[in-house]
Amino acid sequence: MAKTGVLIETENGQVKETSLGTMAAAVGHEIYALVNLGDSQGDIKEKLTEYGADKIVNFSVAPLSSPDFIAEILVAAVKKFGFDNLIGTASAAGKDIFARIAAIIDEPLISDCIEVDIAQKILKKSHFSGKTMATLKVKGNVFLCTIRPNSIEPVTKSGAGEILDFSTDVSDPELMKIVEVKKVSEGKLDLTEAPIIVTGGRAIKAAENYSMLEACAEKLGAAVGASRAAVDAGYAPHSMQVGQTGKTVSPKLYIACGVSGAVQHFAGMKTSKVIVAINEDKDAPIFSKCDYGIVGDIFDVVPVLTEKL
Ligand SMILES: Cc1cc2nc3c(=O)[nH]c(=O)nc-3n(C[C@H](O)[C@H](O)[C@H](O)COP(=O)(O)OP(=O)(O)OC[C@H]3O[C@@H](n4cnc5c(N)ncnc54)[C@H](O)[C@@H]3O)c2cc1C
Repeated sequence: MAKTGVLIETENGQVKETSLGTMAAAVGHEIYALVNLGDSQGDIKEKLTEYGADKIVNFSVAPLSSPDFIAEILVAAVKKFGFDNLIGTASAAGKDIFARIAAIIDEPLISDCIEVDIAQKILKKSHFSGKTMATLKVKGNVFLCTIRPNSIEPVTKSGAGEILDFSTDVSDPELMKIVEVKKVSEGKLDLTEAPIIVTGGRAIKAAENYSMLEACAEKLGAAVGASRAAVDAGYAPHSMQVGQTGKTVSPKLYIACGVSGAVQHFAGMKTSKVIVAINEDKDAPIFSKCDYGIVGDIFDVVPVLTEKL
């Protein structure tokens, strides 16, 4: 059976839901979940076992370890365990680490895939701002890819969950030093990983009106996004921007409020599973691209939606 290493990301002592989705791509393989267990061994072990980890490879690294160092550790793990495949989430950290792993072991890497068949080494990813979908077949000794958060549903499948403490004598190449990690919105969901997103476009008219979307998002357990027009108008920070020059998101539900549906916005959210649009213009382009549409004023519709929720 093929051996697949899966880089697991954790937050506040819990496995990120997006990592469980990534692990689902490896179901049917011998799954090695590679994780920095830290102090929360119990919770993490239980979760990873429930979602199919046969081995839980604990590599302990200090907080703020550089991606160069983590990449070196994972390369050592690839060699030690003889992985056929190594996959991770296309998060900021995942992209940082996997690019380095590919460079070190000189193997091809496909980033930000939305579908993957590891056995056939076939992946799908969007190109040219989402205008085309490429199907790629990869040749290489170790199959490397990162998967767009939320693209694959987590699957429960009990694994053996054996913990292996992994240490190696690789050292930090010290090419960079991470001094501090600042979360833009402390305590809020990361836009790229959120299962539900409520986005406000230019129609939101003022920064303070985002509180209306935040109230709705809170009921849904959602993150709040913005269009570039809203960002350019100063209503929201760039960290909230979804689209070609903002963040790429793939939530289960995307609610676009007062967003026209420009191709550059769509490029960042077209792989959302269900798209709901609220717009007062029945001819807005977004209505030809959404699953459900509500023709109406967002300042009337959103409060009612929040109330109903
Ligand atoms: C190179 C390049 C990169 C770009 N990158 C991005 C990107 O990353 N992300 C992005 O979003 N855009 C991007 N854009 C900009 C993009 O082309 C659009 O200009 C932008 O997405 C429009 O934002 P919007 O839909 O909020 O505003 P608008 O296009 O002005 O649409 C506002 C919509 O709100 C509706 N509306 C108004 N008032 C109400 C109300 N009270 N209730 C309900 N509906 C109402 C209107 O009918 C309209 O459809 C990029 C453009 C370029 C050229």
